[in-house]
Amino acid sequence: MSRTFLGMPGRALERGFPANAAAAVRDSQLRFNLRKATRTIRGKRASVVAELPDWEGLRQAGKAIKDHTLRNLDRYLLQLEGAVTAAGGHVHWARDADEANRIVAGLVKATGETEVVKVKSMATQEIGLNEALAAEGVTAYETDLAELIVQLGDDWPSHILVPAIHRNRAEIREIFRERMGEWGRPAPEDLTDDPRALAEAARLHLRERFLSTKVAISGANFMIAETGTLVVLESEGNGRMCLTLPRTLISVVGIEKILPTWRDLEVFLQLLPRSSTGERMNPYTSTWTGATEGQEFHLVLLDNGRTDVLADEVGRQALRCIRCSACLNVCPVYERAGGHAYGSVYPGPIGAILTPQLRGMGSELDRSLPYASSLCGACYEVCPVAIDIPEVLVDLRAKARHPRAERLGMAAAGWIFNRPERLALAQRAGGRLRRFVPKRLPGPMSAWTDTRDIPDIPRESFRDWWDRTGGGRTGTEPRDGDAR
Ligand code: SF4
Repeated sequence: MSRTFLGMPGRALERGFPANAAAAVRDSQLRFNLRKATRTIRGKRASVVAELPDWEGLRQAGKAIKDHTLRNLDRYLLQLEGAVTAAGGHVHWARDADEANRIVAGLVKATGETEVVKVKSMATQEIGLNEALAAEGVTAYETDLAELIVQLGDDWPSHILVPAIHRNRAEIREIFRERMGEWGRPAPEDLTDDPRALAEAARLHLRERFLSTKVAISGANFMIAETGTLVVLESEGNGRMCLTLPRTLISVVGIEKILPTWRDLEVFLQLLPRSSTGERMNPYTSTWTGATEGQEFHLVLLDNGRTDVLADEVGRQALRCIRCSACLNVCPVYERAGGHAYGSVYPGPIGAILTPQLRGMGSELDRSLPYASSLCGACYEVCPVAIDIPEVLVDLRAKARHPRAERLGMAAAGWIFNRPERLALAQRAGGRLRRFVPKRLPGPMSAWTDTRDIPDIPRESFRDWWDRTGGGRTGTEPRDGDAR
């Protein structure tokens, strides 16, 4: 089995999160775009969530359904396979990105086509499907507006819901004018940066593509085990065009996206739109079951590290994620660093816990991701399936490999804190030697004090002060000869 691939190769992968984030915060235009977009979306989310008196009950129901499904994942996946097959579809199992890409490329080539249209899909970005298809001579066309902007701009998504969140209108206009013609119908010469004009240019460009392409590739937000139904939620109608017009439909879906029954879907159709776009109801919700007349259907079930995550008692809660992006929009770190700093298709708080689990912590970047958080807990509070992201972050930090000096320091601290008499001795010694304690640590530990001050050590510990004064009854000043 090959290593788990999570999209987005390049410079972001070569450096740790701090270096990526430092480069991003120097870009004032990026910071402005991010601040404006995340504040708008989180304001809308907060107001529609506040309308529901039973939001917390819905949230706990979503959590319980996901946990139950994950505990019985093997059973529900087999049930789903049986239902999809009975409805005329074909089910393929992919252990990793390479296997999934091989399956999809083989299916496309079997149709004799060299072009496919795509519905926005995190799973296909995760496995680098577009690049794998290009290597086989197949061109994949993104049809979601933001994904189209990203593709035409030779760029990478930086947000789960709004992949081009780092671009403003003027930049989008330039991308359309310069690149649209290379991919199909060009943008009008007199294109302005008015949102309606930009949307119309994209609509005309994409319409030609929908009408001429015979193969479509999608992901899915949910899969219903009892009937073998797949569900896609989107806002532009491009998904419905992709799902219904082509003669062959291939869906690549992570194995954790399954729900047992239609009743369960009811909960998520309330949780997801409110948490993601701040809407009461999703504009386009498409469902399909197996093959339909005139259309062949293939479902590729993707593992790519998910069963390893499932085996981790703390980390498995990340598989509850429904990719709503609410945690990104409230995260102070994401708002400043942007999505590219996370070096994977999963940015923000969910990326900080999902990427190191799927990919392992072998690289500098993946070891640094659990630290890309202030642990303020805002992500947990907004998460519609109650993923305790700070808990997983702390657990991953404990599992990460730490520098030798830090490990030695922690071992020494553990030895001292283990016995009260050792702690008292260390406090007295610290009080006596306080004048000699440097303001900055030397050598490899200096990085820690580059951004922090070592606090002053008090002349006398609280315990010694309590013993000497009887809890403040006999004077509070240290005596001559006490540690200074
Ligand atoms: S972790 Fe929770 S808030 Fe973040 S994207 Fe997933 S479901 Fe949404």
